[in-house]
Amino acid sequence: MTHGEGAQRQTSTYQGRFAPSPTGPLHAGSLVAALASWLDARAWNGGKGGRWLVRVEDVDAPRCIPGAAELILQQLATCGLIPDEPPVWQSARSALYQQALDQLIVQGHAYPCACSRKDIEDAHAAQGHGRARHAALPYPGTCRHGLRGRPARSWRFNATDFLKNQPLEPVDKAHTALFSIANDTVHWTDRRLGPQSQQVTRAVGDLVLRRADGLWAYQLAVVVDDAAQHITHVVRGEDLADNTPRQILLQQALGVATPRYLHTPLVCGANGEKLSKQNGAAALDLRDPLQALGEAAEVLGLPALSQQKSLPQALEMWVNAWARNYNRPP
Ligand SMILES: [Zn+2]
Repeated sequence: MTHGEGAQRQTSTYQGRFAPSPTGPLHAGSLVAALASWLDARAWNGGKGGRWLVRVEDVDAPRCIPGAAELILQQLATCGLIPDEPPVWQSARSALYQQALDQLIVQGHAYPCACSRKDIEDAHAAQGHGRARHAALPYPGTCRHGLRGRPARSWRFNATDFLKNQPLEPVDKAHTALFSIANDTVHWTDRRLGPQSQQVTRAVGDLVLRRADGLWAYQLAVVVDDAAQHITHVVRGEDLADNTPRQILLQQALGVATPRYLHTPLVCGANGEKLSKQNGAAALDLRDPLQALGEAAEVLGLPALSQQKSLPQALEMWVNAWARNYNRPP
């Protein structure tokens, strides 16, 4: 893939991003991730600070709500979280994703798949595998070695064969300790959660790159954009932690660097479930942004607002606290 975009920024030692999906306005949970990623950038290098970008992840167009992205950007601004450059929109970046898919096809790492969801369920049933409720089924590999005359619906990454032909060395030698790959398993170290691992073939199998409906898969778009934008540090909600091994594999296949990852605590609603737009989390009440930020800061284990502070003063206090907690030299 090319790295033309942002080439002038390659000398930056820290480039972070907040990447909301415009499926609704920010809620208390997404503000935690936004604040954490902003603080991590601002606290970098003893408070000298790195760069912080916002990327609108509107690649899953049918789930996006018109106007939600603009509202999110407005909410961030109300909280004093201002990106260092204009946001990019995934819906405008299809050519980059196509280029990456073409590269994977040429390298023999991607193949067309004819399976519907029902085909995949049937293949599992035929193998006598039960299905845990709500669990996504790993792809059984039906089309890995050919379509046998069936029409292609989607494109998949051949994680199975890719993993077989490893062990892999991290592309970025300076980050050697960040991850390793052995026996079908990706091991990686999260800055907050510590050592993590996932056997990708068992958990998800060969992942989709381009969906049957023609839309780009989230994993491909994220990996391509993080590379094109030279993202060095990803700070996002813990619900995305198990995406990391798939993204590391795609980074390896595409020959791009792996960022460092930090996954933030989730916010649970009264029912004990994680707050999300899907389970009807209320939009943030930002009539008092300091109050909302104070609650997000508490989730992150940052000091409470003990006295009357302005928004900039509060943010500065949290930047300093964050620098003590997380931004020690790697
Ligand atoms: Zn298939």
